Amino acid sequence: MKWQGRRTSTNVEDRRSFPVRGAAIGGGVGGGILILVITLVLTYCGGGDLSQIPTNTPLDNQAVATTYQETQQEKELAQFVSVVLAETEDVWTELFSTNNQTYSYPALVLYTGYVESACGMAGSATGPFYCPSDQKVYIDLSFYKELQDRFQAPGDFAMAYVISHEVGHHVQNLLGIMDEVTSNTQNLSESESNQYSVRLELQADYLAGVWAHYVNRMNLLEQGDLEEALNAASAVGDDRIQKQSQGYAVPDSFTHGTSEQRQRWFYKGFTSGTLEGGDTFNTDNL
Ligand SMILES: [Zn+2]
Repeated sequence: MKWQGRRTSTNVEDRRSFPVRGAAIGGGVGGGILILVITLVLTYCGGGDLSQIPTNTPLDNQAVATTYQETQQEKELAQFVSVVLAETEDVWTELFSTNNQTYSYPALVLYTGYVESACGMAGSATGPFYCPSDQKVYIDLSFYKELQDRFQAPGDFAMAYVISHEVGHHVQNLLGIMDEVTSNTQNLSESESNQYSVRLELQADYLAGVWAHYVNRMNLLEQGDLEEALNAASAVGDDRIQKQSQGYAVPDSFTHGTSEQRQRWFYKGFTSGTLEGGDTFNTDNL
């Protein structure tokens, strides 16, 4: 993607200098749990009054700032995702306004190791995610390497697809689709609610494609970019991931859709460039 010198977003929240200390102390997935236990114990001994917890408890991730030493590659990557975020702001503002709606910008939080969101504590192993409660996208930039090595989906536009997919969830949130899904899935079995999840995810892929449509129209795509995004969409398909990790796929447990579906819905959005073709909730041809 031609991105050098383009506008960066003002909505990037860089928390890399404020690591959640659970990561440093625990050094693994158990780290967050460990810290929680320690804090509860401290609280209990102190009489159980939460207000008595000093502000520099390990749970307070704003307490100790360290200067995050970013590599040249990380610096460039951070700039890149900021440009991508800015391009999503422009495209979605325009598309919302043609529908007489106002697009409010999501924030993009950069973190390393662990992060606290309004949806709970998360670690890099979670992968990039969107939290509807605080309307923020969370990403540890090391995911780029994972995308390249583990998922075999290299390239800057593969990463752009990931960001625009998460922004797609924000669009769904603003349009009320997320709320609708939450209320529709309340009393469903797990496999039934998984089906809703797949439709929600494929729609986010479609919306990522819609965004890419406009990036292409602005002549910002380079040779191979579209293929990078399509390859990434395919790489994160449930069937592919399950086959790689356990040797077989269990369709009932799919939450994001197959490689073929993810690729197809992204491409559908890319060719159409409109919101209309993306109703994954009312189609027999998912
Ligand atoms: Zn998603």
